Amino acid sequence: MPQDDRPRNIILVIGDGMGLAHIALAEYLHKPPSPIRQMEVIGLQKTHSATHLVTDSGAAGTAMSCGVKTFNSAIGLDADSTPVKTIMELARDNGIKTGFVVTSTVVHATPASFYAHVKSRGAYEQIASQLVESGIDVFVGGGERYFSNRDGDKADLIKALQANNYAVIQSEDTHNRYRLGKIDPAWRIACFTAMEDPQRASSGRTWFPYIVQHAIDALKKREKRGYLMMIEASQVDWASHANNTDWLVPELQDAFTMLDMLVKRVKQDGNTLLIVTADHECGNISLRGKRAPRVEFNGKVHSPYMVPVFATGPGAELFAGIYENTEIFEKIRYLMGI
Ligand code: MG
Ligand code: ZN
Repeated sequence: MPQDDRPRNIILVIGDGMGLAHIALAEYLHKPPSPIRQMEVIGLQKTHSATHLVTDSGAAGTAMSCGVKTFNSAIGLDADSTPVKTIMELARDNGIKTGFVVTSTVVHATPASFYAHVKSRGAYEQIASQLVESGIDVFVGGGERYFSNRDGDKADLIKALQANNYAVIQSEDTHNRYRLGKIDPAWRIACFTAMEDPQRASSGRTWFPYIVQHAIDALKKREKRGYLMMIEASQVDWASHANNTDWLVPELQDAFTMLDMLVKRVKQDGNTLLIVTADHECGNISLRGKRAPRVEFNGKVHSPYMVPVFATGPGAELFAGIYENTEIFEKIRYLMGI
């Protein structure tokens, strides 16, 4: 593909556990126009891990970020436990700015798959130490305690972040969360939205769509040859595990509100590829009801179904068809020319 036809920036959105029925539910509840209906390319990805038909978020995240199938619970390692460079590390090494915004902690399996290398996804303090050294330019999410109030060692990783040139916005500083785009671009940005897990959308979390915008502004200010960003609607998965419709529906609506803003933005700027997908389905859900959709959960765990991939922007056509989750990595790497 000629250089001119490739995207300058790539934004990968992952709805954790967001299968086709979840998307259908969000689509029926969303006030038109639908963001995903404005994404002209649709594909399907196969989500199994190296060891299981039903993947976990560690192996699925690693497949998309590193291009290898690995064992469940692994982060940034291949099936033999050898560390593999992530797409964000490759981007960083090639002068492309990197960032992520999540509604989980910043050390949870999905974001961790983009910068960490550990056998067990639950090694949160070890993952936090790796994030400090990752060179990720802008990151946003919960889990400040893995940096400021550690059990395993008493290291002050807030100070360590500052020493690595991060402007750190701590979770009680709710004002500066909305000013990421204004921070001096000489600094990287670490923005914590909670000590532990971020709030649920159903209990008043409203920042997600807005901070995504501010994080993009911050990356734009810093980039000289583009940026790569991962955005995760993390709690779609948690609500599905819990079989809790009252938790799930607002998470999906929040994700779609965020997508509304993103689709508008990438259509305007014309040089950004937007990809929206999931790491796997969760809850084995189906929809019932005559007019208003009602969710029926058929399990409390992940399921092995293929999940949709939507794409729009330069290079989107590469995401049509049926392929392994590892190809998400290959396609992004190819399009970024790294
Ligand atoms: Mg996740
Ligand atoms: Zn899950």
